[in-house]
Amino acid sequence: MQNDKKHLTDKIFAPPLGDMNAADFRRAGYEMIDWIARYFERLEDLPVLSNNQPDDLKNALPQSAPKDGEDFQTIFGDLEKLILPAVTHWNHPNFHGLFSTSTSAAGIFGEMLAATFDMKAMLWRTAPASTELEEVVLDWLRQMMNLDTGFKGIIYDTASVSTLHAIAAARENLNLKIRENGMSGRDDLPLLRVYTSEQSHSSVEKAVILLGLGQKSLRKIATNERFEMDTKLLREAIEEDKQNGYLPFCVVATVGTTSTTSVDPIEEIAEICEKHTLWLHVDAAYAGSAAIVPELQSCLKGCERADSLVTNPHKWLFTPFDLSVLYCRHLDLLKQAFSLVPEYLKTTETVMNQMDYGIQLGRRFRALKLWFVIRYFGQSGLIERIREHCRLAKLLADWIEASDDWELLAPIPFALVCFRACPKTVENLDALNEKIMNSINATGKAYISHTKLNDKFTLRVSVGSLRIEERHIEKLWNLLKEKLAEIK
Ligand code: PLP
Repeated sequence: MQNDKKHLTDKIFAPPLGDMNAADFRRAGYEMIDWIARYFERLEDLPVLSNNQPDDLKNALPQSAPKDGEDFQTIFGDLEKLILPAVTHWNHPNFHGLFSTSTSAAGIFGEMLAATFDMKAMLWRTAPASTELEEVVLDWLRQMMNLDTGFKGIIYDTASVSTLHAIAAARENLNLKIRENGMSGRDDLPLLRVYTSEQSHSSVEKAVILLGLGQKSLRKIATNERFEMDTKLLREAIEEDKQNGYLPFCVVATVGTTSTTSVDPIEEIAEICEKHTLWLHVDAAYAGSAAIVPELQSCLKGCERADSLVTNPHKWLFTPFDLSVLYCRHLDLLKQAFSLVPEYLKTTETVMNQMDYGIQLGRRFRALKLWFVIRYFGQSGLIERIREHCRLAKLLADWIEASDDWELLAPIPFALVCFRACPKTVENLDALNEKIMNSINATGKAYISHTKLNDKFTLRVSVGSLRIEERHIEKLWNLLKEKLAEIK
């Protein structure tokens, strides 16, 4: 055992047959854990965005695989030398671009163990642990988000895939025999319509493309000045489509849009869906996690009338990518849309076989990492972290509001701030803000991204890192002011 703890001075090569022996595994494993711990310790000193140019990594790697196995230490050494410089550090506390998402120690351990078991959760029999833990953990999360018991959860990799499955279930609900007969070459099918706001995520459009509905089946509804779906326009669009002989069947509303985290008026949308018997899918990929915080729980008001809802623990619940949860009231419809059981997969247990609920056959044991995360932080620990992120975002917003040189460009329901520099002396504010963003990103000290709101180039700062403290927000604010002073 003593030998196990020494560093990797002896070479570790693969044996002629079989895998690494236990003693070598321990030695390499301790070294690896040490490396990961050191990585988190020095994270702040690494550039947030990789300084690599395109193809740098490709050019540094051999063009074909090694003929014979290599010493583990050599492989591991290349991680530091070649791979690390090509990494953009999503875990960095000053990663504020897109949505700031980060992993946790508990999540990493869960992921390691999932890789250890390497189960393929297709049938209950092939993975009772994954099947049953997933059911239990997703019910915990449902309760944490205060969703009603009608929702049953299932894990997919990403929100894009969850939404695709939700719209597939909605289509199945139409009873048009699309599963059997498809959609092409049929004159008995009218144009099927899905509605979503013009602020919704591109995954909705990709889903209609993939489901063969075509982009023309997606009707994008304009938003109000708060970037929320205009329900009057939704109502009119549905009525107009019906008069034209089209078949409206689904509305995708968003709680926490990507550009601004705006929240569509779910209750009003639910009312419209009920009137026209449309499936209501709620994309809460980002903001669903916020619903575990009591004072933010109202963001999901109205979802008790939704048919399905997606939320991504890999976004704001410190769970390593990937883990997206689809809550659905009609798992039977998902099953009807996707279940196909060849002889070699027939079993006798009356149980949930997860392969029946989607396009994949095998699934990873993703529930394990979420179980570790929820148990390690507890509900209160998760709530406090999300609450703190919202506080830090509001702090930045207060500084912006108090300054004549900056302005907010959208409300802040959660922990994303949309704003721009607007000094009176500069005419082309789009160019100015783009330069500020690029020069901040070039420093390696922070990463911010942008969007366009009302045709204005808008800076976005997302606060969501598990490792963020107030000093990081201060650092960012100072950087913003410094770059504005330099550029204007
Ligand atoms: N929906 C919303 C509102 C998002 O913000 C995103 C990504 O940021 C997605 C869906 C897609 O997420 P995923 O990468 O899990 O597919």
